[in-house]
Amino acid sequence: MSDLIPPATPAPLVVIDRVGKSFGPVEVLKEVSLTVAAGDVLSLIGPSGSGKTTLLRCVNYLETYERGLITIAGESVGIEQLPDGRRRRKSDRQIAALRAQVGMVFQHYNLFPHLDVLENLTVAPCRVHGEALGPVRERALALLERVGLADKRHRYPSELSGGQQQRVAIARALTMQPRLLLLDEVTSALDPELVGEVLDVITSLAADGITMMIVTHEMAFAREVSTSVAFMAEGRLIENGTPEAIFEAPHHERLRSFMQRYR
Ligand code: ADP
Repeated sequence: MSDLIPPATPAPLVVIDRVGKSFGPVEVLKEVSLTVAAGDVLSLIGPSGSGKTTLLRCVNYLETYERGLITIAGESVGIEQLPDGRRRRKSDRQIAALRAQVGMVFQHYNLFPHLDVLENLTVAPCRVHGEALGPVRERALALLERVGLADKRHRYPSELSGGQQQRVAIARALTMQPRLLLLDEVTSALDPELVGEVLDVITSLAADGITMMIVTHEMAFAREVSTSVAFMAEGRLIENGTPEAIFEAPHHERLRSFMQRYR
């Protein structure tokens, strides 16, 4: 009978499987395992130095990792695991193809200062990926509209506020039509009064089903926007679950004391 067959659960978009990484003698990621389904928003929280940014950077192979494996849509990230157990770095072309699917936005927006806002969005799809300017321009204008900056399209980054620059950086990452967006403390460098406008943009992207992994210290935001929250400390994943479980019923003592500081 059909109800004896378990419903098919779609494979997660991102699988992080027992990932370990060291910087020299220092082990900064220890057997971290996490999954992110398409449409999910995973927030990584935890004390400074716990490995959140490093983990995020491993997901688009800005950092290599020595143990475990990360896959995106079934494709391993950066590393090929050979049948005899050895590991081999993938080719530059394979790594570039992966990065085209994974957008990343940093704490410091890193916009190109000599290009206007619209050119900041169109330059990578056109010059790096050889797409025709017409459709890319249309896509870019729609994204600028979405982050509320269509009227600034001919401004240069230096003419914009920090919050506006960060919204441009988010639109730029989306112009590549990534399957996954990584956001690394994107509000940490902003004046407090500019944080809200950037968080609002991210919240609207989440509502539209954009899959994201977010490193943040904004606990109220993480609670509101995430489908799941992962707490890290000293390179380990300590606890993960729904925002309700993590914020209202944390199990681990470490997480409880971390939360105390945000109440
Ligand atoms: P978090 O994002 O949780 O603050 P990070 O991932 O930035 O933590 O850092 C985790 C640990 O890795 C820290 O001890 C940090 O000093 C170390 N680390 C990060 N990047 C480097 C690097 N490029 N070289 C050496 N150590 C690093």
